[in-house]
Amino acid sequence: MKRRIMMKKWKKSNTNKAHGSFKETVQLTLRGFRVWRGENPMLLLSVLICGVTCALAPYVDIWLLARLIDEIAGGRDPHLLTVYVLALMSTSAVLSLLCAGLTRWKNVQLASLWHAQNKVFMERMLSMDFADMDDGHVQELRSRIWQNTDSGGWGLYKLIYSFEAIISSAMSMISAILLTASLFILPVTAGNGGLMILNHPVFILLIIALMFAVTFAAPLLSVKAGSYWVKYADENQLGNRLFGFWLGSLGNDRAKALDVRIYRQDILSRNNLKKYNPFIPTSKLAKAARGPMGGYQALSGAVSQIFVGVAYIFVALKALGGAFGVGRVVQYVSAVIALSGGLSMLIETLGDLRNNTSFLRTVFEFLDMPNKMEQGDMAVSQNSGKGYEIEFRNVSFKYPGQEDYALSNVSITFYAGQRLAVVGTNGSGKTTFIKLLCRLYDPTEGEILLNGIDIRKYNYHEYMQLFSVVFQDFKLLSFELGQNVAGSMNADLDKAEQCLQRAGFGIRLGKLPHGLSTVIYKEFDEEGVDISGGEAQKIALARALYKDAPFIILDEPTAALDPIAEFEVYSNMNQMIGEKSAIFISHRLSSCRFCHDIVVFHEGRLVQRGSHDALVSDESGMYYRLWSAQAQYYEVKDL
Ligand code: ADP
Repeated sequence: MKRRIMMKKWKKSNTNKAHGSFKETVQLTLRGFRVWRGENPMLLLSVLICGVTCALAPYVDIWLLARLIDEIAGGRDPHLLTVYVLALMSTSAVLSLLCAGLTRWKNVQLASLWHAQNKVFMERMLSMDFADMDDGHVQELRSRIWQNTDSGGWGLYKLIYSFEAIISSAMSMISAILLTASLFILPVTAGNGGLMILNHPVFILLIIALMFAVTFAAPLLSVKAGSYWVKYADENQLGNRLFGFWLGSLGNDRAKALDVRIYRQDILSRNNLKKYNPFIPTSKLAKAARGPMGGYQALSGAVSQIFVGVAYIFVALKALGGAFGVGRVVQYVSAVIALSGGLSMLIETLGDLRNNTSFLRTVFEFLDMPNKMEQGDMAVSQNSGKGYEIEFRNVSFKYPGQEDYALSNVSITFYAGQRLAVVGTNGSGKTTFIKLLCRLYDPTEGEILLNGIDIRKYNYHEYMQLFSVVFQDFKLLSFELGQNVAGSMNADLDKAEQCLQRAGFGIRLGKLPHGLSTVIYKEFDEEGVDISGGEAQKIALARALYKDAPFIILDEPTAALDPIAEFEVYSNMNQMIGEKSAIFISHRLSSCRFCHDIVVFHEGRLVQRGSHDALVSDESGMYYRLWSAQAQYYEVKDL
């Protein structure tokens, strides 16, 4: 029952819809090829040239071999025999070498496939509106794309291998048709009784039609069998995901190791693993494999064999009727089988491409998500903080998919050069207020104005340049210290050092083995240094200073610092920030006391604003309550 509930939920939010129309298949497939061409123009070219060359090689061999056998069985002219043998050997050697070289070139290009595909998706993730990253549907799309790629190479991957198959099958077919054309034209010689019927045009048409019918039937049946993969893709994805979690990450994840040991319960039981395994005998896919899916596949194999049988009989009867000699028998048999193989591969590939449509639809739905934030085009004058006025006008906000408002009807104006402290209990909406200010989200209701104009009208990237923020859960990267501070691989080292000094990291910097070139953390470099939470916070502060934006926003800037370090940071804050506007967020009121302008949030509402002295004297206010509650923990007079 529980499992059914889980499956239901999954189905609701996650479906690889059925394959699309022919037009949609063509459009999405061509678009997919354009994506690959954009990523690596050599990729498709190498597949094309390699496919053509390597597919041609065997047919040149077949043709020359047939001539050689004919000559051995017939005239036995030594000169001609020598020419055929030499031609056979040299073309075979040259084409094989050429094919091997081109295959190498192609494989080198194919080796970049995984990287190129990840780059396409990663670039989309990095440029996506921040709000969309939280969106359940976006996460679902991402996860489906990975699952589809992992489980059967569906999506963009499939296109490259399909392209390869189409080239090779088309070349096989063209060569084979050229080699078999005379099979139908060369007549059975007179006086061969019943075999003369093989010369009759109607019979020839009938036999061609039969061959085509059988050739089409085999791959169509195979594609029909393959469609069961699409049908059960969603369910298999759930199984794959859970397996990835159970067997791939849960045991290896150090962060989960403690909880798993304490609350292990039956999470890792064999039964659980079995229940969701899509490949066990009781899964739907396995049942289909024993039933219709397997039936179609078996029928496809049988039909292919019928084709081979028909072709053999036809060639043998014509040879018996004296239409051609033994050399041509070899040529026709090889070519007819190759023709059938080529056609089968082509039809199967086209079927695959059709099945791939629903997977490509998911890929492009993800890649085409609009950047709603980037609609504005007004220039933001960059004037180092002076002359900016920001107004929140009746702003309310709900996080995507949430019922409750995280901010309700907030109205506030503040000016450049001001120091503003934002205080309130955890969950009162302080960080949300900042996220709206920095346009990581847009308000659900109301508007935010910069110098009287809705911030949505400004160029998004220019607007973002106004703010340096140190978020509470900021992250540094495992690169060089200087690169971290600059947010760039090409740091201005003097400026980076200055900023680190101002942020209080100077003494530690002097002790680092390679100064600004020291790599922090050990992710990519064994010699990387580990840093404490407080040190990381100072580096993050330096990064904010380096950006040199007019507004500096510090979300709980001293949360990871010990009281002495906290005191240092606040004592130096004015000097550190200089002329810039600054917004401090804290639930420790003592930290914000030095700001003349304090706003108090409570349950998503802005409930008070004023100086510390004014706010603390209002004994009925929220600020007084918070202050009284915290005063016993902090020796405020020390600050
Ligand atoms: P504060 O910074 O004052 O601690 P926040 O602004 O982080 O508070 O949170 C305000 C409210 O919004 C809280 O109820 C919190 O649970 C909710 N919230 C914060 N971030 C998200 C999010 N990404 N998705 C949904 N709700 C969120």
